[in-house]
Amino acid sequence: MSQMRKDVFTGRWVIVAETDAVQPTDFRFKPFRRDTAFCPFCETNEASTPPEVFAIRRPGSMANGPGWSVRVVPNSRPHLRIEGELGRRGEGFHDLMNGIGAHEIIAETPRHDRSLHELTPEEISDVIRAYVARIADLERDERMRYVLIFKNHGEGAGAHTIFHSISQLMALPVTPRSIKTKLMMARDYYAQKERCLYCDVLAEELNKRRRLVAENSDFAAFAPFASRFPFELCVLPKSHNSAFSRTSDSERGSLAHILRDILQKLDSTLGRLPYSLSLQDRPFVRPRKGYWRTIEADFHWHLEILPQVFRVTGFEWASGFFYNPVPPEIAAQCLAPRSAS
Ligand SMILES: [Zn+2]
Ligand SMILES: [Zn+2]
Repeated sequence: MSQMRKDVFTGRWVIVAETDAVQPTDFRFKPFRRDTAFCPFCETNEASTPPEVFAIRRPGSMANGPGWSVRVVPNSRPHLRIEGELGRRGEGFHDLMNGIGAHEIIAETPRHDRSLHELTPEEISDVIRAYVARIADLERDERMRYVLIFKNHGEGAGAHTIFHSISQLMALPVTPRSIKTKLMMARDYYAQKERCLYCDVLAEELNKRRRLVAENSDFAAFAPFASRFPFELCVLPKSHNSAFSRTSDSERGSLAHILRDILQKLDSTLGRLPYSLSLQDRPFVRPRKGYWRTIEADFHWHLEILPQVFRVTGFEWASGFFYNPVPPEIAAQCLAPRSAS
C-alpha cells in the first residue's frame, strides 16, 4: 500500500508508492509512445477495466458492457486505495498515514476519436452529472475530506500513453494545500468584509469585461488578473455556491455550454495545445476542531483551466513565482475579440 507522508518543512503531503513495486529502469527517460492500438476505455473493451462504479447508459444495456455515454471505473493502477484504515501515525517527528483514497477514471465518451470540446453540450452535461454523482457517493465515506477532479488533455499534460478523452478523480483523506490556501484567503476576506471574495471578483470582471472570455446566464469565464500561465482561464458560477455537487440541472447545462465554448476557443486559437483542467471545490464539511463555520458563505467553487504553452521551469519550482509572457487582458482579447462580441 502507498503511504501519505507530510513534509515537515512545507506542510505538503506527498503520496509515496510502495517501495518494492518499482525498478530504477522504470524511470529512465523514454520518448512518448504514440497511441497504442488497444484502448481499455473504448466501447466494447469494458472487460479490460475494473468493474464500473457509475455509468450513464442506454435503457436495457448491461453494466460493464456496451451502450454507455459516460463510464466511471477505478484506476487499475491507483495512487491510493479505498480498502483499509487511515492509520495516522508518527515516525520520529514525521507524520504519515496509509495511502487510503479513491482513484477513478471517467471515460467522457465511448469514442476514441473525440475530445471533450468535440462532444455535444448534452454529452458534456452527462460528464458533469458523472462528476456530481461520484462526489456525492464518496462524500458518504467519513475517511475522505476532499475530491479532486482533474483532466490532462494532450501530450505534455500527462496523457502520454492513452489518448482516449478521460477525466480523473482522486478522493483524498486530506485537503490539498493549494485548496487550503484558497480557502484561507477566502475566509480572511469574508472575515473583513462579510462578502464572498469570488462574488466580488466576478462582479468586477463582468463590469470591466477586459478579461472576460465567455458568459452565459449562469457562468462567466475570464483570464484571472494574476494568471500564472498564458491563456489561463477561470470559470465561475454566477450564483454563489460553495459546493459543486449542489449545482442545479439547468446550471449543469449552462456549464456544459460554456466549457465547450471556451475549450473550442482555446483549440481554434492555440491549436491542439495540451491543457489541464481542475475542479476547485470546497472540502467535505465534517465539523471538527478548528473547522470554520463560514465556508458555505466564503468559498465559491470554480473551474481552473491551465493551457500548457511551456513547461514549468526551475524558477517556478524553486520560487513559487511565475513568469507569464501573455498578459491576461491580451489572452482574453485573443480568445474572444471584443469587436466580435
Ligand atoms: Zn479509446
Ligand atoms: Zn460567492
